[in-house]
Amino acid sequence: MSDSPLFYQIGPALPEVSHADGVMIWDTQGKDYLDGCSGAISCNLGHGRQDIRDAMLAQMDKVAFTYRTQFENAPALALGHQLVELFDAELGKVFFISSGSEAVESALKLARQYFVARGQPQRQRFISLRPSYHGSTMGALGMTGYQPLEAPFTSMTHASIKVSGPDFYRHQDSDDDAHVDRVLAETRAAMEAAEPESLIGFVLEPIGGASTGARLLGKRYLQGIRTLCDEFGCLLIADEVLTGVGRTGTWFACQHYQLVPDILVTAKGLGAGYYPIGVMLARNHIVESVMASGGFQHGHTYAGNPLACATGLAVIKAIQRDNLLENTRQRGEQLEAGLRALADRYDWIGHVRGAGLLWGVELVADSASRCPFPAEQNRFAQITALAKQEGLLIYPRRTLDGIAGDHFLVCPPLTIQANEIETLLERLERAMARFEQ
Ligand code: PMP
Repeated sequence: MSDSPLFYQIGPALPEVSHADGVMIWDTQGKDYLDGCSGAISCNLGHGRQDIRDAMLAQMDKVAFTYRTQFENAPALALGHQLVELFDAELGKVFFISSGSEAVESALKLARQYFVARGQPQRQRFISLRPSYHGSTMGALGMTGYQPLEAPFTSMTHASIKVSGPDFYRHQDSDDDAHVDRVLAETRAAMEAAEPESLIGFVLEPIGGASTGARLLGKRYLQGIRTLCDEFGCLLIADEVLTGVGRTGTWFACQHYQLVPDILVTAKGLGAGYYPIGVMLARNHIVESVMASGGFQHGHTYAGNPLACATGLAVIKAIQRDNLLENTRQRGEQLEAGLRALADRYDWIGHVRGAGLLWGVELVADSASRCPFPAEQNRFAQITALAKQEGLLIYPRRTLDGIAGDHFLVCPPLTIQANEIETLLERLERAMARFEQ
């Protein structure tokens, strides 16, 4: 056992970080790494940003922290208005928090309080997808469909009803539309079996993140879930912790599908690695009901502080000023083409899917049967280690939903340039050539 007091992970000792700039990170031995996953899909503007630093310092020189029930603060108000405008779809109320899990937790509690306020306290259950990841706190963990994380805590979480989403890689239906219709029919059956009057809401990521390797759900499915929620009188909660703030080439992934949820949460990219901040946007009438019946019984100490919100404002300003949504779409196309070329070369790359600068690559033992590698081989960890040796950081996972297998995410900062995408692909190719041996 190492003598470090930190216990974040098992396995070999980690290199110690020295410094970073743009999409590159250096360790104290002088080795460089291209940050092909933006940390944990959070450092969306790259490293060493003077503009964010300047905005943060300017705010710190005025005031870093005030408590949200004691003072209004201008950055929080301005960021609230900005976010409402950017989503531009009937979600007019904003609540700040400090992380993705806190954001999901807030959405669960707001939705529950809404039904209590409306005299429907029997509504107590959520539905969510398996596989999925919604956070590590007990409420968010209850929504998470990822067996290894859930297992020790099942008796302690308020577990949601788990249903399957579409799988456009492995389905056996006649075509994609037929597949979606079948999945929606199964979901309807699960909602009916659960007693419709007991449902609070459906929680989903409009584009899958780490737990599914960027699996797409598609417009037909998402609109179908919107319709089911309306029919059953429950709320649709979009978890855009990972996909929000530009990652997929639009401000929010919902916007690809004209999907308007009742509550939307985002986090990671809003602070872009410079300060932890999350946010919940909700329809006005939901918040008005809750506020009229005693207020929202929820809060976190650091929520909505001036420094957090000044950071978020600077992040949004940078995305707008530097046209980063456009860059995300263009560099995303370049990255997709490169990943597809690699998939043509290597039989064990089963599926490449994603949007903007969020791409998932699924590894299979047998591309004809789409059969995953045996779990104990830990192929996702092998390829990640090889990529790191080649100077590329990618984000690994094994999807333990009983069907899919190993995958990794490639999701560099939204600021990445064409030559840097080339470097990323070259390093990935070298890792793959070694993986093949
Ligand atoms: N939801 C999604 C979709 C996420 O990807 C994550 C983080 N990976 C979370 C929630 C939890 O966010 P945090 O780690 O900031 O608590």
